[in-house]
Amino acid sequence: MKLHTKIIIGLLSGAGVGIVANAFATGAAWVAWIGIPADRAAEKVQWVGNNVAGPVGQIFLRMLLMTIVPLVFASLTLGVAGLGDIRKIGRVGGRTIAYFLVSTAISATIGLILVNLVRPGVGLDPALVKELLATYRAQAQGLQAGGGGQFGVDMFVNIVPSNPIKAAASLDMLGIIFFSLVFGASLTMLPEEKTKPMVRVLDALGEAIVKIIDFAMRLAPYGVFGLIFVVTSRFGFALLQKLGLYVAVVLVGLLLHGAISISALVRVFGGLSPRVFYKRIRASIVTAFSTSSSNATLPTNIAVAEEELKIPAKIAGFVLPLGSTMCMNGTALFEGVTVLFLAQVFGVPLTLSQQVVVMFLSVITAVGAAGVPGGSLPLLMGVLAAVKVEPLTIAMIIGVDRILDMARTTINVVGDMSAAVYVARTESEWDPRTVSADPKLAA
Ligand code: ASP
Repeated sequence: MKLHTKIIIGLLSGAGVGIVANAFATGAAWVAWIGIPADRAAEKVQWVGNNVAGPVGQIFLRMLLMTIVPLVFASLTLGVAGLGDIRKIGRVGGRTIAYFLVSTAISATIGLILVNLVRPGVGLDPALVKELLATYRAQAQGLQAGGGGQFGVDMFVNIVPSNPIKAAASLDMLGIIFFSLVFGASLTMLPEEKTKPMVRVLDALGEAIVKIIDFAMRLAPYGVFGLIFVVTSRFGFALLQKLGLYVAVVLVGLLLHGAISISALVRVFGGLSPRVFYKRIRASIVTAFSTSSSNATLPTNIAVAEEELKIPAKIAGFVLPLGSTMCMNGTALFEGVTVLFLAQVFGVPLTLSQQVVVMFLSVITAVGAAGVPGGSLPLLMGVLAAVKVEPLTIAMIIGVDRILDMARTTINVVGDMSAAVYVARTESEWDPRTVSADPKLAA
């Protein structure tokens, strides 16, 4: 059986068992009917989550995360050094960033159009609003204390790390990226006999990391089961229903962006059939969905790009590490919809030009957001503050965020992959026909 099939089985069975366990724990009518006391059932589900499913999921996640720092450093440095001269680096980098920004802006625009059409924040039950603000107040305050709600010029200054080791230790991805790019670029300016040993070391480092990722991916079906079980067995599905219209706007927006815009970008700029594209990247999609982390999905994404889409390593190793932090199509859509939703709920009128500001800030903050679960929430509070919506009102959506995070991270990762396809098409000898025509690959 193929690995991605196993992972999908892990995902579906984890979700299924988790949903049944959730009903069990929350005392659904049928649980009482078969005579199990509700409190005992809740305890048992909690126990399985804490002691079995949770640890298995976390081990898988940590196996992926532990590769991130050396992987990003090795692949970006080699990618830049491999491009050779500084002008080529500038051109490929410029093209990559332009694609990130354009695809993210398209996504945010879809979200803003939908939220204006549906207006999910209008007419929400005031009692529900009060209840949600009270229930998730502490979590919102925690985000604010961690720096949420404010951003300024420091955000840009902080991209340059004062200490690359510290940046690596705190998983400050923009800092690691900046250092690796500069390091790779400076290698291109030295004579080859000096840089050769360094390049060989980094090459070997990269290869060893790929082996670790292979191990980790063998755990994926079980890890994914564990991660999804923990989410679905603890999730407040009742809340999902109450905020249904808002959740639906985000999910439909993401779906439209994935099905229409990314498909069109892949076909027009990458020359690849969207059907083949989506089929080949299933392992990335499932990993993103279950980990809610672009960073944790990066190792899988690089492996999938090289093995399934046959994208040259120097392109995948350059575009995907950048994308996993800087290209977040789904996050920008989510941010735009959420800001407008909260403005609707709390009666803050936003003019068209203010909405354009929201779109612009959503794109910028999506570049800066960390690729970890909930990584965009502190920055989202900054966007709220910028258009005079109280940042703590984010409490309204914290309860449903995990599900939205799973969906937006998936689109973030798909967007990264579409960028790699585009850059590979324009910057290398990669020919999409080799993917479409290969019966084994296209199957
Ligand atoms: N979880 C997202 C990611 O890793 C970031 C976010 O929107 O919170 O891509």
